[in-house]
Amino acid sequence: MNVFKPKAHFKRVSQIPFSLLMSWGIRSVFLDTDNTLAPRDSDAFTKDALAWVEACKRAGFLLCIVSNGRPGRVKRASEKLGIPFVNPALKPLSYGFKKAAHMMKVSPKQCVMVGDQIFTDIWGGNNAGMKTILVEPVDPKSDGLWTKWIRRFEKRHLGPSPEGL
Ligand SMILES: [Mg+2]
Repeated sequence: MNVFKPKAHFKRVSQIPFSLLMSWGIRSVFLDTDNTLAPRDSDAFTKDALAWVEACKRAGFLLCIVSNGRPGRVKRASEKLGIPFVNPALKPLSYGFKKAAHMMKVSPKQCVMVGDQIFTDIWGGNNAGMKTILVEPVDPKSDGLWTKWIRRFEKRHLGPSPEGL
């Protein structure tokens, strides 16, 4: 298994069908914040991300933010979205993923990590034995210099996705 390869990839979180998650046996959805739900370091969640998160809750999935972002902002995101969080998650280490699975009382196999970065969200989620979904960054211009640099290497790991884009 290629630990850098997501199980599926989509342009936006709002394009992830619940039927796909159900077919994978998912009970818990772990969400990155920076450039997955909002631009990096921002509280400006996209409307479609907010709507998808609400629909995800109504569909019965247990949601949790798993973020390396700044503590104050991650806490605000958790309050705004009404879902718990693990922060700092220390992605790509498996620490945060395991902590989130423990909090949600689910096994890693029942979890999917959704995020915009291969070398944190996808690598870490795969290593923790979870399913993973890559989304395109909400606003790539907001990325830090390190992330901008490393994104060129991310692209090499993205073959055709069996599902998604
Ligand atoms: Mg991110």
